[in-house]
Amino acid sequence: MPSPSKFARVVLLESRTGSQRSNEKKTKEAALVADDTKVYKNLFLKVLPERERALLGPSLQFVELPQGELLAEPGKRVSDVTFLDAGMVSLLTTMQDGTAIEIATLGRESVLGVLSALGNHQSNVRALVQIDGAGWKMRVTDFRAAVEKSRTLRHLVLLSSELTLAQMQQTAACNALHSAERRLCRWILQVRDRIDGDVIELTQDFLAQMLAVRRPTVTLIAQGLQNAGLIRYRRGRITITDHAGLEKLACECVEEIRTKTRHILNELQ
Ligand SMILES: [Zn+2]
Repeated sequence: MPSPSKFARVVLLESRTGSQRSNEKKTKEAALVADDTKVYKNLFLKVLPERERALLGPSLQFVELPQGELLAEPGKRVSDVTFLDAGMVSLLTTMQDGTAIEIATLGRESVLGVLSALGNHQSNVRALVQIDGAGWKMRVTDFRAAVEKSRTLRHLVLLSSELTLAQMQQTAACNALHSAERRLCRWILQVRDRIDGDVIELTQDFLAQMLAVRRPTVTLIAQGLQNAGLIRYRRGRITITDHAGLEKLACECVEEIRTKTRHILNELQ
């Protein structure tokens, strides 16, 4: 079993083999792996015992996840498992006419593709990067081989799937029962939790799709929140100006999802 320092070197070496990366990105990656405690921001990877980290480590490749990148499409076979490190990914259910609605938002508490990977299945959903981020990616075949060797990794598969399912269940109820205004507050807070910041870069089209409302409706709601002093809204950018006020106006789903996430992550520790 590699020592933590050797393991960190392996990851660093692999990160450097990625093609067409700028010097700036390489520096960022080097900083990420220089200290083993900072290598992984993904909450599942962070709490894994050293043995399991060593099982996965050599196969994990650091990837940037730019806004707009598709990580899964319905009907397509899942070829990678991705441990999200930063940013935010939306899971979307799409309809025949091309419309789509968000069924979960995923961040550093999430692992994308685990169940499909084990079952050798196709994806049922679209996974779209909404907020620039990064992650650790590995081939499903490597992931499957590692899971076969470790009870803890099998537990990880179960828990991460349970967490994504819990997020989807809550979002389904939210979409059906809560107002677009309260859902927008929920969405903004969920992004804030993922990016640790108050400025969210996104397009109005994205927002309309997320909330399953028309674009003018998004504008009206966002203007209302701005008039109430909760956010500043300009084309392509939301700045949170009253975090506590947003928490108050958001629906209960924000806290429900936070609580479920905490409980499920505690199971792995
Ligand atoms: Zn809700």
